[in-house]
Amino acid sequence: MTDMPVERFEVSLNTPAGLLTMPVEVPTGFVPVTTIVPLMRRLSQQAQALEERKSVAAGHPISCRMGCAACCRMLVPVSAPEAFALKDMILALPDARRARMMTKLSETRARVEQAGLLARLTDVAETTQPLIDEEMEPLNREYYALRMPCPFLENETCSIYEDRPAACRELLVTTPAELCQDMVKNQVQALPVPVRISTVLGALWSELVGGPARLIPLPIALDWAERHSAERSLVWKGTQLLDKALDKVWRYLSQELAHRAEAGSRMQRGTEGTSSGN
Ligand code: SF4
Repeated sequence: MTDMPVERFEVSLNTPAGLLTMPVEVPTGFVPVTTIVPLMRRLSQQAQALEERKSVAAGHPISCRMGCAACCRMLVPVSAPEAFALKDMILALPDARRARMMTKLSETRARVEQAGLLARLTDVAETTQPLIDEEMEPLNREYYALRMPCPFLENETCSIYEDRPAACRELLVTTPAELCQDMVKNQVQALPVPVRISTVLGALWSELVGGPARLIPLPIALDWAERHSAERSLVWKGTQLLDKALDKVWRYLSQELAHRAEAGSRMQRGTEGTSSGN
């Protein structure tokens, strides 16, 4: 994570697709919140791999393939720690590549503004109220209707693949890839997400600095990180960040486990009702 001395732990989590165990190391000293981002991504990736294995075993392999970027036209939400990490990554790029990326970001911003969505995206990023999925739905749909490629998409490939947001990593589908060409009209079956890392990191940030667990639309994430650069320089003990982040993961997983158990028993009751009706 950094060059500081580290403490090692073994994380063990009960996910809906099985037990996940993962060795982790965190700096013992004071670090910014971005330090926890790669670790959380790794955790999400391993939880997702368990989910994928379960889906394959049930006869539903993943259809997503390299070069298939139909979903890279959707509005991607990122947490504040991810927005800061994205800014750090862009600043560390060679000049020419950084300049190209900045141009694409401002073109996207201009197009969003032309479509009348910029103020609404900014409101979402800066809101002091908790975000509600249902309220976000119209904005998500209007954005998707633009069919605007993500500013980080180059030749239908993600140009920041290793650093892409958690939300991009978590969207995997089991229905044929062609259906993703229109995710509104077509019934696309997405792999269940055991733990949404952007939500976890959003909740972590909210606990660290106060305010709602905000999610920032990717096209304006860099602008947001610029405006909030003073918060980027705050530091916490690495072990404290890990404890708080894992607490949010545990909470998320317990809700997800309860939610799936409830959905399972609803389905069971439905099947019994159908059988007794026959
Ligand atoms: S960041 Fe990469 S994976 Fe995510 S929407 Fe953009 S191009 Fe696609």
